Amino acid sequence: MIKIKTPAEIELMRESALLVSKTLGMIAAEVKPGVTTLYLDKLAEEFIRDNNGIPGFLGLYDFPNTLCMSPNAQVVHGFPTDVPLEDGDIISVDCGVLMNGFYGDHAYTFEVGEVNQETKKLLQITKESLYEGIRQFRAGNRVGDVGFAIQDYCEKHGYGIVRELVGHGLGKKMHEDPEMPNYGRKGRGKKFKDGMVVAIEPMVNMGTHKINQLKDGWTILTADRKPSAHFEHDIAIVNGKPELLSTFDYVYKALGITSNEEDEFRKTH
Ligand code: MG
Ligand code: MG
Repeated sequence: MIKIKTPAEIELMRESALLVSKTLGMIAAEVKPGVTTLYLDKLAEEFIRDNNGIPGFLGLYDFPNTLCMSPNAQVVHGFPTDVPLEDGDIISVDCGVLMNGFYGDHAYTFEVGEVNQETKKLLQITKESLYEGIRQFRAGNRVGDVGFAIQDYCEKHGYGIVRELVGHGLGKKMHEDPEMPNYGRKGRGKKFKDGMVVAIEPMVNMGTHKINQLKDGWTILTADRKPSAHFEHDIAIVNGKPELLSTFDYVYKALGITSNEEDEFRKTH
């Protein structure tokens, strides 16, 4: 059942989402060759607790860390490790926070040092596909409209859309209805209305869409071991339109990037 949020609940959820945004911004400044993902995980846990939040993934389905850290061919759900990041790596960082009784959940794929052009393009297209999907998350549209937009955009570039993992409704639980696949058919699935809050999160592979899961029961890898990217935002429908609760502003500030990509989805009321 889809849980509709009141305007007051959406404002509480914005606080949870923004704490994740700030955590990713803090991490952005620390990602560099030689740093371990376990070190970044500890920084994130401290930062979240210092800001009156609870790490949202820690202990959820028995996940042992604050961040999911998935380098290179890992798609999602990788564990932080003591293996240092290397120049040319990419690292997908997914972070959850529980605050005010509501979850925030968003993700960014960072470049480590100098990344090759082919990989840079994968990150750019994956992030653009996220906004293609968000644009379709409006009252009257359906789940399939978002999935179609993401799939169409990425497949045009020859990339593979992961099928087995999907976005989701967000609220007092990390994973609520509806499921939000990154593939689909226009006009199919549940209908959107005001007060719905979801996490949209394309997981996009440079090569095949096929994946493997490691025996650890968590880590998802591309079947061809080519790189994979993951970007995720939290979005509410307000006055019929998609409004971002999370933001990459803190990441961009840390990285010295200027962007107007979120402008059309900002709060206006
Ligand atoms: Mg996430
Ligand atoms: Mg999610």
